[in-house]
Amino acid sequence: MDQPLEPGLYIVATPIGNLGDISLRAAGVLRGVVAVACEDTRVTGKLMRHLGVKQKLVRYDDHASEATRDYLLGLAAQQPIALVSDAGTPLISDPGYRLVRAARERGIAVTSLPGPSAAVVALTLAGLPSDRFLFAGFLPAKDKARRAVLEELGGVQATLVFYETAPRLADSLTAIGEVLPDREVAVARELTKKFEECRTGAPEDIAAYYAAHPPKGEIVLLVGPPGEAAMPDEADTDALLRAALVTLKPSQAAAEVARATGHDRKALYARAMELK
Ligand code: SAM
Repeated sequence: MDQPLEPGLYIVATPIGNLGDISLRAAGVLRGVVAVACEDTRVTGKLMRHLGVKQKLVRYDDHASEATRDYLLGLAAQQPIALVSDAGTPLISDPGYRLVRAARERGIAVTSLPGPSAAVVALTLAGLPSDRFLFAGFLPAKDKARRAVLEELGGVQATLVFYETAPRLADSLTAIGEVLPDREVAVARELTKKFEECRTGAPEDIAAYYAAHPPKGEIVLLVGPPGEAAMPDEADTDALLRAALVTLKPSQAAAEVARATGHDRKALYARAMELK
């Protein structure tokens, strides 16, 4: 028997393809709430049947009327209710932001239960640097806008994570190949499902693969970070130091060249004294 839940809004992450990924806590909360706000009552109904629970389902998305939001928050002020999306974590390219914001503004308790999200599953699978990543939702469908986003984000020192659809994958890979040609990309498809796959490589190679094997199903597209700029070698560094010494004292020249190159300031100072 689960503990009775406190009133409030419970954000519940649900599986992205494998029903076994529902957490014990998520199942307990879905059993304990009085209503579940969801994108599609048929999709969530299937999950509820799998869990053997029969709660009131209320269709909700961020374009829902104020009246629907008011109704849900009126309930949440007195009793526990849940928000789920069709799959994965609510609010991550899914509805919920407005509801959470309005709940917080009204002083209603909000609790978020961690669980599956395709972006995180893909990041942990692809073997691209994971210390810094930038999740940017879906790339725009129109070519000009898509390229503008890639240009905007291309300089960010982080792995880029996008949601993608099978029909648009080829165009996105072409755009990445042209805007960010030296990057490694990864296509993570059908995660947690029977035909899960993850392919990494140069954009043109991955594009060629999927031209020959048209993809089906759900896709996360990742772009590796820009490579580290190569540190200038000794001759280049000497040239920079000589140029700086024309107008600066050795200590100032060393500091400036250290800033520009990333080389050690003390070593540069010693070299500046030799060159002077
Ligand atoms: N909120 C969800 C989450 O946390 O993963 C994402 C919802 S978004 C509307 C749907 C997109 O997520 C799909 O178009 C696809 O890009 C990605 N996605 C969801 N499930 C996936 C899966 N099993 N494998 C790969 N990508 C998936």
